[in-house]
Amino acid sequence: MRNIYKDFGIDDKVAEFSENIIKELKPRFEIIDELAEINQLKVISAMQKNNVSEACMLGTTGYGYNDLGRDTLEKVYADIFHTEDALVRAQITCGTHALALALMSNLRPGDELLAPAGKPYDTLEEVIGIRESRGSLKEYGISYKQVDLLNNKDFDYEGIKNAINEKTKLVAIQRSKGYQTRPSFSVDQIGELISFIRGIKPEVIIMVDNCYGEFTEEKEPSDVGADMVVGSLIKNPGGGLAPLGGYICGKKECVENAAYRLTSPGLGKEVGASLGVLKDFYQGLFLSPTVVASALKGAIFAANVYERLGFFVIPDSKEERHDIIQAVTFNDKDKMIAFCQGIQAASPVDSFVNPEPWAMPGYDSDVIMAAGAFISGSSIELSADGPVKEPYSVYFQGGLTFPHVKFGIIKTLQTLYERNLITLK
Ligand SMILES: *Cc1c(COP(=O)(O)O)cnc(C)c1O
Repeated sequence: MRNIYKDFGIDDKVAEFSENIIKELKPRFEIIDELAEINQLKVISAMQKNNVSEACMLGTTGYGYNDLGRDTLEKVYADIFHTEDALVRAQITCGTHALALALMSNLRPGDELLAPAGKPYDTLEEVIGIRESRGSLKEYGISYKQVDLLNNKDFDYEGIKNAINEKTKLVAIQRSKGYQTRPSFSVDQIGELISFIRGIKPEVIIMVDNCYGEFTEEKEPSDVGADMVVGSLIKNPGGGLAPLGGYICGKKECVENAAYRLTSPGLGKEVGASLGVLKDFYQGLFLSPTVVASALKGAIFAANVYERLGFFVIPDSKEERHDIIQAVTFNDKDKMIAFCQGIQAASPVDSFVNPEPWAMPGYDSDVIMAAGAFISGSSIELSADGPVKEPYSVYFQGGLTFPHVKFGIIKTLQTLYERNLITLK
């Protein structure tokens, strides 16, 4: 191994530092392998139960009537998430679209949306109308209430109770922290919140933004009472193979509402050609539990490496994981940039490109992004990004195989080491 790493320009000191940490993490990695096994069998069971066949890999064109592979895949998703129904489509363009679809199809003018656990993901601000935007829920007369977490990051049960009223129709909970500094919620925590809300208003629709959370635990939010779980196929459940797409799994009525909105009233789930993507949707879903396990191990490795070097990491080196995102705070611009350049240099695609901070629409500072992915924008593949401003935090996630994430992290260390930005004891 040392010699191979040497060929890649990794210093012995960097390799040794990394290997020592990996050794200590072995017992923890075993637990993650067990999780992957449980979720792998969950996926296989759903595929077998629904008689997934060679014919399911073929796609349809045109209207997409009687698309066996598409309809079977939706049954497979429904079984995995233990829901009545599912909508899994190439026509759902991304995670934001899936979430917007779930919201817009299940809310009507005069209804109110409640976020009981703080601000939702950035892109949803425009969907909801928190930031003025054309076509927002607000424009359609749907109001919005938000209850922030308490200072200790607990749910504000009193505030939530006060916020629920006769107009409250849908409650949106985000599992992963996304780009916030709060911890991600465990499925059990989400379950507690759901029970509390149901105790006040049983008929309310509860949606969970499941992005980055799929297969990071044995249970999914739909196992603890969520009416809808929503996510992107170029994150966890696409396993790195799905080239696009999104999903909504949930109660039959909720999913059908989404289908009528995605296609058209009267048509719903009956149309929507799958073209040639089904094989990748199936195979990606099949690989997803082990891909997620690789990403989890990589995130834990990174947390341990950078915490030991004295940087602030969320989650920390010991915490349990509820998503695949790892944040590292550098408090230094050069260190942050070196980290991202290391990730890029370790990529199978575009390794020769050097990421630089750049102005991006919608951001109030330069942003740096490192990604050398087979699927453009895929964040289940190894990637890192962050706004280039105080406190210079990098959000890093993904990795289709553990050897790749491990190499990526080692490469970040090497880059920092070469530039005299860290000292290794
Ligand atoms: C990525 C993400 C989204 C949005 O997904 P896109 O595919 O980027 O539109 C929404 N919520 C969370 C928590 C996410 O991580």
